[in-house]
Amino acid sequence: MSESSNNWSGDPSHPAILGGLAVRPAGPPGWPLRDDAVLDVLKLAWESGTWGHYHGGHVKKLRARVSGLLEVEHVIPCASGTVAVELALRGLKIGPGDEVILSAYDFKGNFQNILTLGAVPVLVDVGERDWQLNTAGLKAAVTPRTKALLVSHLHGGMVAMPAVMEFAREHGLPVIEDACQMPGAIIGGQQAGTWGDIGVWSFGGSKLLTAGRGGLLYTNRADVAQRIHLYAHRGNESYPLSELQAAVLEPQLDALEQRNATRASNVQQLRELLLTIPGLHPFTESLIDSQPGYYKLGLQFEAALWDGLTRDRFAQAMRAEGIAIDAGFRSLHRIHSARRYRAASLLREADRADEQVLTLHHPILLTESAGELQEVATAARKIRDHAEEIARRTGE
Ligand SMILES: *Cc1c(COP(=O)(O)O)cnc(C)c1O
Repeated sequence: MSESSNNWSGDPSHPAILGGLAVRPAGPPGWPLRDDAVLDVLKLAWESGTWGHYHGGHVKKLRARVSGLLEVEHVIPCASGTVAVELALRGLKIGPGDEVILSAYDFKGNFQNILTLGAVPVLVDVGERDWQLNTAGLKAAVTPRTKALLVSHLHGGMVAMPAVMEFAREHGLPVIEDACQMPGAIIGGQQAGTWGDIGVWSFGGSKLLTAGRGGLLYTNRADVAQRIHLYAHRGNESYPLSELQAAVLEPQLDALEQRNATRASNVQQLRELLLTIPGLHPFTESLIDSQPGYYKLGLQFEAALWDGLTRDRFAQAMRAEGIAIDAGFRSLHRIHSARRYRAASLLREADRADEQVLTLHHPILLTESAGELQEVATAARKIRDHAEEIARRTGE
């Protein structure tokens, strides 16, 4: 019998990518949650008519909530996390010829926002085991043209904010802290996003707090808030968050702390389960007094241990099993012309991150069933056991 005949269909021990039965035949859990509390606010917004108002009270309430939670004075809702970063850069007067330091492994929109303002992104390398911005690389990145640092906490990792802020103060530089992936996370005993001069959240459709679209930024600097206000208000707000978007965020903010705790405890369990899979390592967490948020859980895929199976094929095989795993970001120096940026050093770890990062999407991290977490490890184990065969039969 030839190998391609379908004698494994329905066999749960055989990889779904080769025709076996998927570990999760129904696929990964969906997002957003079917949350009754969200339905309630939608009904209320309909009954009161506020869903169709410019100023129905929901945006105002959201600003007050976030201001209280983060202990920040100025909260500016806007149309997306990407716009929030752009407004933050404008609030710091970044312009042509200025340099902004960021990690070479970061959200592409952050790089593009710097270019949009005519400024030059200066890329620093990431750390070896957590793949967050490596603060040891900051010194070599600074020039007389440096005007700001833009730092993002990614994939459940945390940038060492105490070290970033110490460096920034020493050099008189403002910091934009992108906390889009971890609203409500605690870093060094303090809310993520509040270390920097300006913090940023996203309410995009896949994010932990979702309104489909939307974002906000926050700062204690009156000059920055004023500059952003002058730029964004043109008789009306030019990058608004709508009343309806703000309304659906209210109950999600109520549940944020609890859900972050559930995700964190599930990540701890998943870390233990994945110890049995060689060549698949969750990002390390090294900061004390911290509780990261998990929009994604970052994992390192060590290809040398996978019998010729590539990272991207592994991700494809996991998705066939019903587990939402994808390749991470492309590193910025690898997808942009060298004329667009300056590299502060060799970007060796960012090269590795470009090739080795995988991300597990967050919805499964809210599960209350240990069995569902086990399924992630079971799927990885199944692929591990058939790695050579998958590589060969899927054409690698
Ligand atoms: C999602 C995200 C953004 C942008 O948010 P949008 O609302 O999608 O524009 C920015 N930075 C990081 C790290 C993100 O994950």
